[in-house]
Amino acid sequence: VLIVHATMWTITLSTYGVLVAPRQLVAEGISSLALVLICCNLLLATRAPLLEKGLTGLDKLFVTHRLIGLTIAVLVVTHYTIVPKSVGWVPSKFVAYPMILLLLAMIFVASAPRFPWAKLVPLKYQTWKATHRFNGLFVLAVVTHSLFAPAYVHMVPTLRVYVYGVAALGLLAWIYRELLFARFGPFRALTVGSACSVGADVTEVTLASDAGPYPRKAGQFAFLSLAAGPSPEQHPFTISSDPRADVRFSIKASGDFTDQLGPALPEGSAARVEGPYGAFTSSRGRADQLWLAGGIGITPFLAMAADLDAATRVLLVWSVRRKPEALYTDELSRIAYEKSNFEFIVHATAEQGHLELDALHADAALREGSVFVCGPVPMREAFLKQLKSLGVPRSEIYYEEFRLR
Ligand SMILES: Cc1cc2nc3c(=O)[nH]c(=O)nc-3n(C[C@H](O)[C@H](O)[C@H](O)COP(=O)(O)OP(=O)(O)OC[C@H]3O[C@@H](n4cnc5c(N)ncnc54)[C@H](O)[C@@H]3O)c2cc1C
Repeated sequence: VLIVHATMWTITLSTYGVLVAPRQLVAEGISSLALVLICCNLLLATRAPLLEKGLTGLDKLFVTHRLIGLTIAVLVVTHYTIVPKSVGWVPSKFVAYPMILLLLAMIFVASAPRFPWAKLVPLKYQTWKATHRFNGLFVLAVVTHSLFAPAYVHMVPTLRVYVYGVAALGLLAWIYRELLFARFGPFRALTVGSACSVGADVTEVTLASDAGPYPRKAGQFAFLSLAAGPSPEQHPFTISSDPRADVRFSIKASGDFTDQLGPALPEGSAARVEGPYGAFTSSRGRADQLWLAGGIGITPFLAMAADLDAATRVLLVWSVRRKPEALYTDELSRIAYEKSNFEFIVHATAEQGHLELDALHADAALREGSVFVCGPVPMREAFLKQLKSLGVPRSEIYYEEFRLR
């Protein structure tokens, strides 16, 4: 985006020269970049397969989306600070001032969950998500502001085509996301085949389909909504079954929705999945792999182990607090019995202390292989730190963001 933006401005300046004061010029370069980035975020919000694949998974796409949001805030403040201001109340100010305040408030709210000010914005996920719905209006406001301001963008044809063209694309993406996605998005209707409790706080939901297996790669996740569930809202869960089998979710009670989900879910009731998403798949790694799971972070590895090809050697280490929390050991033992290239260890931190990676016999994976990590954020951070000190290159560490905001 930066290269395209700089190129368009270079072409403009070399063709038309400098038509306004330098501060105005810089301010406009910055504000037009902010507009282009708002449109990029609207495009990302469509969850288009090409973008999802390019950014290596929807979870990483969300990270990029957040980074772009914060960049927009910095650009908008910089534009406001340096742009020469006309005296009195001109129309461009009527549009700009409320828009700047709203945009900054929106970015503050949207980024809050990852920052110390999270406590100031105690929004439930669905409410927080709903605050994003009006983002397209910012594109309209910025375009209107530029029409009232003495802007290069509407004086110079190349820039006009570029900036207003991107704005139109952003608006189309917004309209698609808000009005058409529910109809044309990657949804599939399935039915609940079974629901049962496995262990104290994990519910396993299996979905049946008359139209054959749900196409996905081992390790991918999908958004699940259940007509007979605690609420119709969607939640992301990894598909923990072999890609050739029915879809299975292993869901740990960890909040409003998941706490109320249980074995009472009626068989045959309607379910809908959106996806599959994610690029946390073993095919991305090298021949020797170390898989590190923490708690319910085992779910992608259950699918990946069932689907493991003969050319990949894997050691899976599953860190749980106490051994009885490791619920799928029978399934993993069966896979280890059938596949000589798959081994697993359960590590109970309450009895054995924190997992030290250098004590594992996984030299090949740590030296020349790839490491896959899935689990709670603090555990992931601790493993990433250890992996760094063991010299594992960053490019060979793959991890799944187990939260999207
Ligand atoms: C890619 C991915 C894969 C996951 N796989 C599994 C899995 O296999 N098994 C499992 O038990 N958990 C999994 N999770 C976590 C699971 O999605 C959350 O625990 C669940 O959505 C919490 O919902 P809640 O209402 O019960 O809890 P809440 O207390 O309402 O939410 C806890 C946190 O979960 C996130 N969250 C809540 N609702 C949503 C939503 N609708 N969409 C996105 N995030 C939301 C928010 O960050 C929120 O702060 C996965 C999460 C992600 C992002």
